[in-house]
Formats: sequence, C-alpha cells, structure tokens
Amino acid sequence: MALERTLSIIKPDAVAKNVVGQILSRFEGAGLKIVATKLTQLSRGEAEKFYGVHAARPFFKDLVDFMISGPVVVSVLEGEGAIAKNRDLMGATDPKKAEKGTIRADFADSIDANAVHGSDAAETAAVEIAFFFPEAHIYSR
Ligand code: ATP
Ligand code: MG
Repeated sequence: MALERTLSIIKPDAVAKNVVGQILSRFEGAGLKIVATKLTQLSRGEAEKFYGVHAARPFFKDLVDFMISGPVVVSVLEGEGAIAKNRDLMGATDPKKAEKGTIRADFADSIDANAVHGSDAAETAAVEIAFFFPEAHIYSR
C-alpha cells in the first residue's frame, strides 16, 4: 500500500448533530492523520463545482442545496491506503445499506443527508484536495 492523501467532508447534517469530534476520532483511530482541516460553509458555486461530475444526475440540485445548508468540516487525511481506508470507515452511500459500525450507519439519516464525503480515487483526491487547500497549508508528518 502507498502513502496517500484523501479529502474528507463532514457534511452539514453531521456538523449540526455535533458529532464532528466522534467522526474525526474514527479517522485517527484507523491510523489516518489529519494533515489539514477547516470549518467552512460552501457557496452554491463551490458546491456545484465540487460535485460537477454529478451535474446531469436527477439528485444534483438536492445534493447542492443540502451541501450549502450549513457549515461543513473539510479535512485532508493522510496514511497508508488512505483513500480506501476512509471509504471503508464511511460505509455505503445509502446509510440503510451501510455496514454496521461505519460512520454512515451510525450517524447518517438518508442517502441525501449521509454525514460524510470521501474521495473515491487518487485522481479525484488530488483535485478535491487542491480545491480546498494550497499545498503550503497541508502539514504532512
Ligand atoms: P460522496 O461523493 O458524497 O462521498 P459517494 O461517493 O458515496 O458520496 P456518489 O455516487 O459520489 O456517492 O454521490 C454523491 C452524493 O450524491 C452522495 O453522497 C449522495 O448524497 C448523493 N446521491 C448519490 N446517489 C443518490 C441517489 N440515487 N439519490 C439521491 N442522492 C444521491
Ligand atoms: Mg462520490
């Protein structure tokens, strides 16, 4: 496995539930390091650009409306196999299908309000990280 970086977003539903610490703790517990993090609220333009790959999907407007509905916590996680490790910790997109003990099984209410985002491949991780953090603001260690 290679040392990787991945982008995590704790979505507005999970921030509103006050479970940011519990979610970040799962990343750390799995051996991932938080090498950048911030609380921010996305503009409509930013959310549309970030999820641009889904622009043609029927759920796009709901997805964007949801992502801008409140503050989010955006982090860069670093570690061996960080991309797949984070996806494993997250669980399936639809929390009803997410494995027991995953973040989405434990904290998400629906396929729209599903608590977390995680990059799905090395290429998307690089683009998503650069979208939120300049290299100088990432503290690898
Ligand atoms: P994310 O990209 O947020 O980490 P994901 O990679 O598990 O989630 P994607 O297929 O990339 O899932 O979908 C992006 C987001 O769009 C999902 O998190 C979910 O909120 C929403 N979404 C995906 N599929 C559907 C659907 N069939 N109906 C409603 N919303 C959906
Ligand atoms: Mg995705």
